[in-house]
Amino acid sequence: MHVMISVDMEGIAGVSGPQDTLYGRPNYDRFRRLMTQETNLAIEAAFAAGAASVVVNDSHDGMRNVMYEELDERVELISGFNKPLCMMEGVQDADAVVCIGYHAWAGTTAATLDHTISGGQIHNWWLNGRQVGETQINAAIASHFGAPVVFVSGDDKLAAQVHESLPGTRTAVVKYALDSMCVRSRPLSEVRRLLREGVEEAVRAHATIPVQHIDGPVTFRMEFTRSSHAQVACLLPMVTRVDGRTVEVTGPNAVDAWRLAFGALRLGSTCDMG
Ligand SMILES: [Zn+2]
Repeated sequence: MHVMISVDMEGIAGVSGPQDTLYGRPNYDRFRRLMTQETNLAIEAAFAAGAASVVVNDSHDGMRNVMYEELDERVELISGFNKPLCMMEGVQDADAVVCIGYHAWAGTTAATLDHTISGGQIHNWWLNGRQVGETQINAAIASHFGAPVVFVSGDDKLAAQVHESLPGTRTAVVKYALDSMCVRSRPLSEVRRLLREGVEEAVRAHATIPVQHIDGPVTFRMEFTRSSHAQVACLLPMVTRVDGRTVEVTGPNAVDAWRLAFGALRLGSTCDMG
């Protein structure tokens, strides 16, 4: 059994604002170490649950945050940008996906650093008419390869969204968000126990946890923060304008739809340079 661990940073215990998560900011080095420690707990748990191999995908910002030299020496690390499957690169060979340090979707009330894929460009994102965030988008990509998202950790608002959208997926609440930039983190000893025990149980149960079910072709609808983003994204003929700030793409499966959506987002983002 092969496990892929995707690690974001906003949902790491203790993280409360961008000064903790952005390269070069005052607290970044402290929290990238804590991010690496949470990753190591998930790795240890996955092996304890019987994983034959574990691959870690650094999934935050520029995707060069996890400290390789402090990472469990048994695993491979995927880092850097322009991965074909972005936060899900490595899922191709996985039987189970574990998401550490994740966060709620853009616009969620009182959720740590809420955003969806791209904070500056995306206001809302829907999958076949349902509002989604990164966890649900990534679960859809994982479903294409037959892998369930078995475990997700982050704040309480994320956990509520995961319970609603991904039945069977285990969650760990490592902190309670009071605002997008204010948290009440659980005691570190408790956080570590929740991650260690939770990931092990979830990976052991992976065969019974449902793969996200998607009916028919996959349509992603994205509301940008500016109409110019939508205008530029629509240079691609397969991108349809829904309204001033909103576009839609449809693919025969989640991966093709993701490629269209991410391409439209990257293209639309270029309007910020002009
Ligand atoms: Zn992130």
